[in-house]
Amino acid sequence: MADIIAIDGPVASGKGSVSAGVAKVLGFHVLDSGALYRLAGTACVKEGVSLDDQAAVTKVAENMKPLFKDGRIYLNDEDVTDVIRTEEAGLNASQIAAYPTVRDALFQLQRRCAQEPGLVADGRDMGAVVFPDACLKIFLTASAESRAKRRYNQLKEKGIDSKIDDLVSDLKERDRRDTERAVAPLKPAEGARILDSSELTLQETIDKVLSWYRE
Ligand code: C5P
Repeated sequence: MADIIAIDGPVASGKGSVSAGVAKVLGFHVLDSGALYRLAGTACVKEGVSLDDQAAVTKVAENMKPLFKDGRIYLNDEDVTDVIRTEEAGLNASQIAAYPTVRDALFQLQRRCAQEPGLVADGRDMGAVVFPDACLKIFLTASAESRAKRRYNQLKEKGIDSKIDDLVSDLKERDRRDTERAVAPLKPAEGARILDSSELTLQETIDKVLSWYRE
Protein backbone atom coordinates (compact mmCIF):
# COMPACT_ATOMS: atom_id res chain seq x y z
CA MET A 1 0.00 0.00 0.00
CA ALA A 2 1.38 3.41 -1.01
CA ASP A 3 2.11 5.89 1.78
CA ILE A 4 -0.72 8.35 2.24
CA ILE A 5 -0.57 11.73 3.96
CA ALA A 6 -4.04 13.06 4.73
CA ILE A 7 -4.37 16.80 5.19
CA ASP A 8 -7.79 17.99 6.32
CA GLY A 9 -8.94 21.39 7.46
CA PRO A 10 -11.33 24.29 6.99
CA VAL A 11 -11.72 26.63 4.01
CA ALA A 12 -8.54 28.41 2.91
CA SER A 13 -6.39 26.88 5.62
CA GLY A 14 -3.71 26.41 2.97
CA LYS A 15 -4.33 22.67 2.43
CA GLY A 16 -3.88 22.90 -1.34
CA SER A 17 -0.58 24.78 -1.28
CA VAL A 18 0.81 22.70 1.58
CA SER A 19 -0.21 19.44 -0.10
CA ALA A 20 1.36 20.49 -3.40
CA GLY A 21 4.58 21.53 -1.64
CA VAL A 22 4.85 18.30 0.36
CA ALA A 23 4.03 16.16 -2.69
CA LYS A 24 6.67 17.94 -4.76
CA VAL A 25 9.43 17.19 -2.26
CA LEU A 26 8.40 13.54 -1.86
CA GLY A 27 7.49 12.94 -5.52
CA PHE A 28 3.97 11.90 -4.44
CA HIS A 29 0.65 12.28 -6.27
CA VAL A 30 -1.88 14.86 -5.05
CA LEU A 31 -5.61 14.46 -4.53
CA ASP A 32 -7.56 17.72 -4.21
CA SER A 33 -10.81 16.13 -3.07
CA GLY A 34 -12.57 19.50 -2.80
CA ALA A 35 -12.20 19.85 -6.57
CA LEU A 36 -14.42 16.77 -7.02
CA TYR A 37 -17.23 18.31 -4.93
CA ARG A 38 -16.77 21.59 -6.79
CA LEU A 39 -16.91 19.72 -10.11
CA ALA A 40 -20.09 17.89 -9.14
CA GLY A 41 -21.77 21.17 -8.11
CA THR A 42 -20.62 22.88 -11.30
CA ALA A 43 -21.85 19.99 -13.43
CA CYS A 44 -25.30 20.30 -11.78
CA VAL A 45 -25.48 24.02 -12.48
CA LYS A 46 -24.46 23.46 -16.12
CA GLU A 47 -27.04 20.70 -16.55
CA GLY A 48 -29.78 22.73 -14.88
CA VAL A 49 -30.09 20.27 -11.98
CA SER A 50 -31.38 21.81 -8.76
CA LEU A 51 -28.89 21.50 -5.91
CA ASP A 52 -31.84 20.80 -3.61
CA ASP A 53 -32.67 17.61 -5.52
CA GLN A 54 -30.45 15.04 -3.79
CA ALA A 55 -31.30 12.14 -6.12
CA ALA A 56 -30.60 14.15 -9.27
CA VAL A 57 -27.39 15.63 -7.84
CA THR A 58 -26.21 12.13 -6.89
CA LYS A 59 -26.79 10.92 -10.45
CA VAL A 60 -24.70 13.78 -11.79
CA ALA A 61 -21.89 12.97 -9.32
CA GLU A 62 -22.01 9.27 -10.27
CA ASN A 63 -21.86 9.94 -13.99
CA MET A 64 -19.46 12.84 -14.30
CA LYS A 65 -16.14 12.05 -15.94
CA PRO A 66 -13.73 14.86 -15.18
CA LEU A 67 -10.43 14.96 -17.03
CA PHE A 68 -7.31 16.25 -15.24
CA LYS A 69 -4.70 17.21 -17.82
CA ASP A 70 -1.61 19.42 -17.68
CA GLY A 71 -2.82 21.22 -14.56
CA ARG A 72 -6.25 21.96 -16.10
CA ILE A 73 -9.61 20.36 -15.30
CA TYR A 74 -12.19 19.53 -17.98
CA LEU A 75 -15.82 18.55 -17.76
CA ASN A 76 -17.28 17.24 -21.02
CA ASP A 77 -14.40 18.86 -22.95
CA GLU A 78 -15.01 22.25 -21.32
CA ASP A 79 -12.14 23.79 -19.33
CA VAL A 80 -13.67 24.48 -15.90
CA THR A 81 -10.42 25.05 -13.98
CA ASP A 82 -11.27 28.65 -13.08
CA VAL A 83 -15.06 28.24 -12.85
CA ILE A 84 -14.78 25.69 -10.04
CA ARG A 85 -12.56 28.02 -7.97
CA THR A 86 -15.13 30.78 -7.49
CA GLU A 87 -16.70 31.38 -4.05
CA GLU A 88 -20.07 30.44 -5.55
CA ALA A 89 -18.72 27.06 -6.70
CA GLY A 90 -17.32 26.56 -3.18
CA LEU A 91 -20.68 27.23 -1.56
CA ASN A 92 -22.44 24.94 -4.06
CA ALA A 93 -19.88 22.22 -3.33
CA SER A 94 -20.48 22.54 0.38
CA GLN A 95 -24.27 22.24 -0.12
CA ILE A 96 -24.08 18.99 -2.08
CA ALA A 97 -21.24 17.60 0.08
CA ALA A 98 -23.82 17.28 2.85
CA TYR A 99 -25.61 14.52 0.87
CA PRO A 100 -24.29 11.08 1.96
CA THR A 101 -25.16 9.63 -1.45
CA VAL A 102 -22.96 12.21 -3.17
CA ARG A 103 -20.10 11.37 -0.79
CA ASP A 104 -20.55 7.67 -1.63
CA ALA A 105 -20.52 8.46 -5.35
CA LEU A 106 -17.13 10.20 -5.02
CA PHE A 107 -15.59 7.70 -2.59
CA GLN A 108 -14.12 5.20 -5.09
CA LEU A 109 -12.88 7.97 -7.34
CA GLN A 110 -10.81 9.20 -4.40
CA ARG A 111 -9.62 5.76 -3.25
CA ARG A 112 -8.27 5.05 -6.73
CA CYS A 113 -5.76 7.90 -6.29
CA ALA A 114 -3.79 5.92 -3.70
CA GLN A 115 -0.96 4.91 -6.00
CA GLU A 116 2.78 4.41 -5.72
CA PRO A 117 5.02 6.08 -4.76
CA GLY A 118 2.52 7.82 -2.46
CA LEU A 119 -0.32 10.31 -2.17
CA VAL A 120 -0.98 13.57 -0.39
CA ALA A 121 -4.76 13.88 -0.11
CA ASP A 122 -6.41 17.10 1.00
CA GLY A 123 -10.00 17.74 2.01
CA ARG A 124 -12.30 17.44 5.00
CA ASP A 125 -12.59 13.69 5.60
CA MET A 126 -9.39 12.28 4.10
CA GLY A 127 -8.06 10.98 7.41
CA ALA A 128 -11.40 10.01 8.97
CA VAL A 129 -13.28 8.39 6.07
CA VAL A 130 -11.51 8.02 2.73
CA PHE A 131 -8.02 7.06 3.94
CA PRO A 132 -8.34 5.92 7.56
CA ASP A 133 -5.16 3.90 6.89
CA ALA A 134 -3.08 7.03 6.13
CA CYS A 135 0.37 6.94 7.74
CA LEU A 136 0.15 10.62 8.69
CA LYS A 137 -3.04 12.58 9.38
CA ILE A 138 -2.97 16.31 9.76
CA PHE A 139 -5.67 18.80 10.67
CA LEU A 140 -4.47 22.08 9.24
CA THR A 141 -6.08 25.17 10.62
CA ALA A 142 -5.65 28.95 10.92
CA SER A 143 -7.70 31.87 12.24
CA ALA A 144 -10.65 33.01 10.06
CA GLU A 145 -8.96 36.39 9.55
CA SER A 146 -5.66 34.97 8.32
CA ARG A 147 -7.50 32.52 6.06
CA ALA A 148 -9.58 35.36 4.58
CA LYS A 149 -6.44 37.41 4.02
CA ARG A 150 -4.82 34.51 2.15
CA ARG A 151 -7.92 34.01 0.02
CA TYR A 152 -7.99 37.77 -0.68
CA ASN A 153 -4.38 37.67 -1.92
CA GLN A 154 -5.01 34.57 -4.04
CA LEU A 155 -7.97 36.26 -5.73
CA LYS A 156 -6.01 39.48 -6.19
CA GLU A 157 -3.25 37.56 -7.97
CA LYS A 158 -5.91 36.36 -10.40
CA GLY A 159 -7.08 39.95 -10.91
CA ILE A 160 -10.29 39.37 -8.94
CA ASP A 161 -11.32 42.16 -6.52
CA SER A 162 -12.93 41.10 -3.26
CA LYS A 163 -13.67 42.46 0.21
CA ILE A 164 -12.06 40.90 3.28
CA ASP A 165 -15.31 41.22 5.28
CA ASP A 166 -17.26 39.34 2.59
CA LEU A 167 -14.61 36.63 2.49
CA VAL A 168 -14.65 36.24 6.28
CA SER A 169 -18.42 35.83 6.29
CA ASP A 170 -18.36 33.42 3.31
CA LEU A 171 -15.77 31.20 4.89
CA LYS A 172 -17.47 31.26 8.29
CA GLU A 173 -20.71 30.19 6.59
CA ARG A 174 -18.96 27.35 4.78
CA ASP A 175 -17.15 26.29 8.00
CA ARG A 176 -20.50 26.26 9.79
CA ARG A 177 -22.11 24.06 7.14
CA ASP A 178 -19.12 21.71 6.96
CA THR A 179 -18.90 21.39 10.75
CA GLU A 180 -22.60 21.00 11.49
CA ARG A 181 -23.56 18.55 8.75
CA ALA A 182 -24.62 15.07 9.79
CA VAL A 183 -22.24 13.15 7.48
CA ALA A 184 -18.48 13.46 7.61
CA PRO A 185 -18.55 16.68 9.64
CA LEU A 186 -15.35 18.68 9.59
CA LYS A 187 -13.27 17.72 12.61
CA PRO A 188 -9.82 16.26 13.24
CA ALA A 189 -9.63 12.53 12.42
CA GLU A 190 -8.69 10.18 15.22
CA GLY A 191 -4.94 10.31 15.59
CA ALA A 192 -4.61 13.52 13.55
CA ARG A 193 -1.95 16.03 14.49
CA ILE A 194 -3.20 19.60 14.70
CA LEU A 195 -1.19 22.16 12.79
CA ASP A 196 -2.13 25.84 13.25
CA SER A 197 -0.55 27.80 10.41
CA SER A 198 -1.79 31.29 11.42
CA GLU A 199 1.74 32.39 12.34
CA LEU A 200 3.65 30.15 9.90
CA THR A 201 4.83 30.79 6.36
CA LEU A 202 3.90 28.28 3.66
CA GLN A 203 7.45 26.89 3.67
CA GLU A 204 7.45 26.50 7.47
CA THR A 205 4.15 24.64 7.27
CA ILE A 206 5.44 22.31 4.54
CA ASP A 207 8.63 21.66 6.54
CA LYS A 208 6.60 20.79 9.62
CA VAL A 209 4.55 18.21 7.69
CA LEU A 210 7.70 16.72 6.17
CA SER A 211 9.38 16.47 9.57
CA TRP A 212 6.36 14.62 10.98
CA TYR A 213 6.32 12.30 7.97
CA ARG A 214 10.02 11.47 8.45
CA GLU A 215 9.75 10.89 12.19
O1 C5P B 1 -11.53 22.30 -0.19
P1 C5P B 1 -12.55 23.06 -0.99
O2 C5P B 1 -12.80 24.44 -0.48
O3 C5P B 1 -12.24 23.05 -2.45
O4 C5P B 1 -13.91 22.23 -0.83
C1 C5P B 1 -15.15 22.72 -1.28
C2 C5P B 1 -16.24 22.12 -0.41
O5 C5P B 1 -16.33 20.72 -0.68
C3 C5P B 1 -16.01 22.22 1.10
O6 C5P B 1 -16.55 23.40 1.66
C4 C5P B 1 -16.70 20.99 1.64
O7 C5P B 1 -18.07 21.23 1.89
C5 C5P B 1 -16.63 20.00 0.50
N1 C5P B 1 -15.65 18.96 0.74
C6 C5P B 1 -15.99 17.89 1.52
N2 C5P B 1 -15.13 16.85 1.69
C7 C5P B 1 -13.91 16.88 1.14
C8 C5P B 1 -13.51 17.99 0.36
C9 C5P B 1 -14.41 19.03 0.19
O8 C5P B 1 -17.08 17.84 2.06
N3 C5P B 1 -13.09 15.85 1.30
